[in-house]
Amino acid sequence: GQCVLVCPTGALGERDETDRALEMMYDPELITVVQFAPAVRVGFGEEFGLPPGTNVEGQIITALKQLGASIVLDTNWGADLVIMEEGTELLHRLKERKGPTFSSCCPAWINFVERHYPDIMPLLSSTKSPQQCVGALAKTYLPARMGIDPKRIRVISIMPCIAKKDEIVRRQLIHDGVPEVDVVLSTREFARLLQRERIDLKTLPPSTFDNPYMSEYSGAGAIFGTTGGVMEAAIRTMYYVVNGRELEHVEIEQLRGFEGVRTATVELGGDIGAVKIAMCHGLKPTRQIVEQVRSGNSDLDFVEIMACPGGCVDGGGTLRSKKAYLPHALKRRETLFGIDKTKAVRQSHRNEQVQALYRDYLGAPNSEKAHHLLHTYYTDRKIEMTQTVREVWADIKMTG
Ligand code: SF4
Repeated sequence: GQCVLVCPTGALGERDETDRALEMMYDPELITVVQFAPAVRVGFGEEFGLPPGTNVEGQIITALKQLGASIVLDTNWGADLVIMEEGTELLHRLKERKGPTFSSCCPAWINFVERHYPDIMPLLSSTKSPQQCVGALAKTYLPARMGIDPKRIRVISIMPCIAKKDEIVRRQLIHDGVPEVDVVLSTREFARLLQRERIDLKTLPPSTFDNPYMSEYSGAGAIFGTTGGVMEAAIRTMYYVVNGRELEHVEIEQLRGFEGVRTATVELGGDIGAVKIAMCHGLKPTRQIVEQVRSGNSDLDFVEIMACPGGCVDGGGTLRSKKAYLPHALKRRETLFGIDKTKAVRQSHRNEQVQALYRDYLGAPNSEKAHHLLHTYYTDRKIEMTQTVREVWADIKMTG
């Protein structure tokens, strides 16, 4: 059964779904596919006493296999795929000069738009988040490739985020009663589950991903877990699409600070020219940017919004320490940048498993099939302002 953990302030509730996840993994009739987010691997070791920012990707894979997961996929792979879809969409919009495009991978931000600023919904990218892209393909492409019955598949996500629990039950992401993702465990819940099953992450030998279809990732996919990462990853691929060669300096330093809003102008060349991009996190800067755009006083082309300061590396589902917040989040983010630096492939479009997906299944980015599986729409859910915006923001960030 499910139990509800109530936060000490009484304001926030977090549904605990560890039992449901375990039941799925133990059921011999089911094939459980587990994915985990870019930020999880750098925020999870702390739950087991490892230094902040330790990369425990390999230990998480081992733990999941020991628990009984049938297939372990990487949400980073989905991040690379999102860049292909969102980057292509953005290039179209830039050619039409349709005004800024907002990123769409943070569900707390999507909730915020639908509830408070539904008039800007047309500016949101239609690309689903990496978690949903992986879920959608784990029930279509993956079984087609592996010759398994899609009906037996259940998808479990491990996320640094509580709003992701709300995302999986959006009605546009459920098809004939079948959700793309069945269960979301927060990083904290996953730690509890391992402790309950007496698996000590610290002592586990690391494993590597072994799924040949949906687990490889580029450096661009890895940095999705921190603010500015989506933007940097998109620019690398868009530059290649416009110019037919790789961008030389792939790191966009102006986006890597910790301020609420960071902007940069990047020369994309070709028929696009210069694009003005911004990265924004937290409530106040987000509202400022949205108000600027609505009043016509913005010259931005592409805006990445993340609800949590620092992005998912310090998401609402992770271990958080108010005192140590900045140093910990910075260490986690440094590790993500380090992964990017040492990857032989640092661009999403060079991810060979993503290339295979397009070659063998989807055709091209933004094709009809890609639209059907990887894009979504938004709905006006405007609510009366009986709470302060700060209260609503906290509510949608923490509970969905
Ligand atoms: Fe979730 Fe926060 Fe990341 Fe948004 S920024 S996806 S709310 S963890």
